[in-house]
Amino acid sequence: MKQTVLHNDEIAPGVFWLGVDRKHDFKAGQTVKVGLGDDLPPRIYSICSGNKDAELRILFNIKEDGALTPKLAKLKPGDEVRISEPGGSFIGTPEPAVWIATGTGIAPFFSMLKSGLRTDAILLHGVRRTDQFYFRDIWEEMLGERYHRFCSGEESAGAMRGRVNCFFDVHEPPEGRRFYLCGQASMCVEMRDLLIARGVPFTDIVTEIYF
Ligand SMILES: Cc1cc2nc3c(=O)[nH]c(=O)nc-3n(C[C@H](O)[C@H](O)[C@H](O)COP(=O)(O)OP(=O)(O)OC[C@H]3O[C@@H](n4cnc5c(N)ncnc54)[C@H](O)[C@@H]3O)c2cc1C
Repeated sequence: MKQTVLHNDEIAPGVFWLGVDRKHDFKAGQTVKVGLGDDLPPRIYSICSGNKDAELRILFNIKEDGALTPKLAKLKPGDEVRISEPGGSFIGTPEPAVWIATGTGIAPFFSMLKSGLRTDAILLHGVRRTDQFYFRDIWEEMLGERYHRFCSGEESAGAMRGRVNCFFDVHEPPEGRRFYLCGQASMCVEMRDLLIARGVPFTDIVTEIYF
């Protein structure tokens, strides 16, 4: 569906939060396909806004040598973009949750938060650089002590140095919660194996891999 870009804000170097009118209902955690109506196949993006918001937003980072994201980054308000109907099965539920993300994999959890799901969730966010803790103020306000940051590439005040897996060096996986993993394939696979090895039933682990 053709849509007009309303916003395309660079919220960190090379990372954009693009918004269009929300035309459809969706469940927090779902994705849309995004393209430019040229020969290039569309790519999939998690919706990064609340399901009652007037705008539908996505969060993407420019991939060096990527085919679509450098073009998406150049879009200005008023330009045209193609956005599909929402789909996908990575859907937030009302059960207590642990949300685990790398990089822009934070997007579906932001949608879950903004859609009123699980403000008692525990969030683990792993990034390379301090400026990649997207929406940090909001997480701090909404989740407080349940918001845990991990920075692998540099020292970052208030964040643990290393990857998200470090959390489980010092904590047992909390019981009675569903684990949602989103982002890099390596993180999702390693984290799933770690959680299963530590006694979490695989039926309590839900994964969305960005590739
Ligand atoms: C379910 C799902 C949800 C997603 N949600 C998000 C999201 O919310 N935010 C987000 O930022 N991304 C998300 N992604 C990833 C997104 O769909 C795109 O893959 C990403 O944005 C890259 O797009 P691109 O066209 O710029 O790069 P591409 O052209 O697809 O290239 C990606 C990388 O692969 C390399 N590459 C390309 N072709 C080859 C080749 N033949 N051999 C070796 N290397 C190659 C490129 O150099 C580049 O570094 C999601 C993916 C999935 C599957």
